[in-house]
Amino acid sequence: MSVLVVGGAGYIGAHVTRLLRQDGVPVVVLDDLSTSSAERAGDATLVQLDVSTPEAPDAIAALIREHDVDAVIHFAAKKQVGESVQRPLFYYRQNIGGLVNLLDAMEREGVRKMIFSSSAAVYGEPVEAVVREDSATMPINPYGRTKLIGEWIMADCERAWGLQWVALRYFNVAGAGWPELGDSAIMNLIPMVLDRLTSGEAPRVFGDDYETPDGTCIRDYVHVKDLAEAHIVALNALGGELPNHVYNVGTGTGSSVKEVIDAVGQASGLDTTPVIEGRRAGDPPKLIASADRIAADLGFKASLGLTEIVESAWQAWQAGPRRIEV
Ligand code: NAD
Repeated sequence: MSVLVVGGAGYIGAHVTRLLRQDGVPVVVLDDLSTSSAERAGDATLVQLDVSTPEAPDAIAALIREHDVDAVIHFAAKKQVGESVQRPLFYYRQNIGGLVNLLDAMEREGVRKMIFSSSAAVYGEPVEAVVREDSATMPINPYGRTKLIGEWIMADCERAWGLQWVALRYFNVAGAGWPELGDSAIMNLIPMVLDRLTSGEAPRVFGDDYETPDGTCIRDYVHVKDLAEAHIVALNALGGELPNHVYNVGTGTGSSVKEVIDAVGQASGLDTTPVIEGRRAGDPPKLIASADRIAADLGFKASLGLTEIVESAWQAWQAGPRRIEV
C-alpha cells in the first residue's frame, strides 16, 4: 500500500512527503516540477507528469495499479491570485482539470481516500474576523473559486461513488520544517520581507491605518510543519465516521504585519524598519481561522508559534541560494 502525493515536490507537499517517509510509508510523488525541483521529493518515488493533460488519467491509473496506491493527497495547483485573474482558463484547466483527472483515475481504480489542499481564499472577504468553516464562501478571484469548486466536485464524487475526502483550508502558511524545504516562492509576507532585505531594501507595509492595535493587517500564520501534521492526522481519520469534510488549518490567533516584520528583525539581527505604502485592494483588516472544528473532530491543534515560524523561515532562507551576509 502506498500514498500518492500529487504536487509532493512543492513547498507544503514536500513536508508531508517527508513526514510520511519518516513514518515508513511508501510514497509516490507525482509532480510536473513546474514550481519545484526533484530533490525536494527526497527518497520518495518521483514521477514527473502534468496532471492537467488529457493523457493524465490513464497514466495516473497505471501508477495507482503499479504502486498499490490506497490514498491520495492532492497539492498540485497554481496559486498566484493575480495571475488567476489574468489567466482564468489556465487556472481552471490546471486546478480543476487536474483534480478531475485525478478523481477519474481514482474512481476507475477504486481508490477512495483523498486529502485536498483548499484555502482560506474560499471565504473571499469575510465580514467576521474569525472565520468558521460554515462562514459564507464567496471567493473573489478565480484561484479561490478553483478551490471551492474542487470541494464541490469531491462532494459530488462522494455521493456518486463513495469518495472519502477531507479539504483542508489553509490560512497563512509559513516557516520550514527543514532548512532545505523552505518556501521558494516570493508570494507570502515572510519571503517578501526576506526578498526585500536581500536586495538591500526596506520591507513594505501596505497600510498602517487599519482598525487594529498597531494599524497593520492581522493574519493567522500556521507553521508548515504543523500544517503537514494536520494532513497525516486527516489521512489517518479517513475511513472512519468523520462528521465534516472541510477544516480550517490555522492557529486561531493572529499576528500583525508589523509583528511579523519585527520577528524577522529579531531572528536575523537585521534592521527591518519598514516603508509604509498605501492599502492594497481586497485586504481585510483581520483574518483569523477558527481552529475549533479540526480540534473537535480530528484532535489537531497547531503547536508552533510566530517565533518558530520566523526563525525556521530565516534558517531556510540562509540555507538557500540568496543567503544574506550578516
Ligand atoms: P507549490 O507551488 O510549492 O507546490 C505545488 C506543487 O504542485 C509543485 O511541486 C508544482 O510543481 C506541482 N504542480 C503544479 N501544477 C501541477 C500540475 N499541473 N501537474 C503536476 N504537478 C503540478 O505550492 P504550495 O505552497 O506547496 O501549495 C500547495 C497547495 O496548497 C496548492 O494547492 C495551493 O493552492 C494550496 N495552498 C497554499 C497556500 C500557501 O500559503 N502556500 C495557502 C493556501 C492553499
